[in-house]
Amino acid sequence: MDADGNLRRQSQRKVITVMVQENLKTVREHIKEACGRSGREPDEVTLIAVSKTKPISMLQEAYDCGCRDFGENKVQELVDKYDRLPQDIRWHMIGHLQRNKVKYIVDKVYMIHSVDSLRLAEEISKEAVKKKVTVSVLVEVNVAGEESKFGAAPDETVSLVEKIAKLPNIVVKGLMTIAPYVDDSEENRLYFAKLKQIYVDIIHKNIDNVCMEELSMGMTGDYQTAIEEGATYIRVGTGIFGERQYTSV
Ligand SMILES: *Cc1c(COP(=O)(O)O)cnc(C)c1O
Repeated sequence: MDADGNLRRQSQRKVITVMVQENLKTVREHIKEACGRSGREPDEVTLIAVSKTKPISMLQEAYDCGCRDFGENKVQELVDKYDRLPQDIRWHMIGHLQRNKVKYIVDKVYMIHSVDSLRLAEEISKEAVKKKVTVSVLVEVNVAGEESKFGAAPDETVSLVEKIAKLPNIVVKGLMTIAPYVDDSEENRLYFAKLKQIYVDIIHKNIDNVCMEELSMGMTGDYQTAIEEGATYIRVGTGIFGERQYTSV
């Protein structure tokens, strides 16, 4: 072993440790501030560390700083990391989910945030029955009506929730949205408010087997605004782990 190489790796490791620690401290402070501005308690907001593309060592670092909720957007990556990290982690599937991959994760995920069709919900229900588990899901809503995004249209959301609610072994726990990518998070405030409004409308309908408790909205660029508008889950990747590097295939 080359001693210089070892030293270099050790000091790189140290830099990553400090970065994740510092970033988490900042994010947690911002959560507190946003809660303060909107009369909410910080424990009403759960921070999901979005760890897609990041190595196990970085997730372990966030774990050591108290993170227990992690978000991934690819089935294979989630399953790999699930096997290699502590069992008390709550794994959140936040990416578009193909029906043929549902079977690999139904008994591993704490929540699926990206249910956007009845067919996907039916597949989740079927696999959940087979594995004798109950799966908590959020219905993804394309609030801004962006063509490039998945999600139910706002005016179809209530009826989709009603249909999913009739399926066995699946429980609708709330709604999720991915807001547009903007420079000024204020531009997304109306979309967060709109998701909250749909959520409240669904609560008032008192649908059996639906317990609207969670609003998953807000990412690195706009989570403080999302909290002010009622987010209970925020999904932060870059703000904790730094920029992602995608290697081309
Ligand atoms: C990647 C991702 C995030 C995190 O994005 P950042 O801007 O890095 O915080 C949040 N939600 C979903 C659905 C994602 O795919």
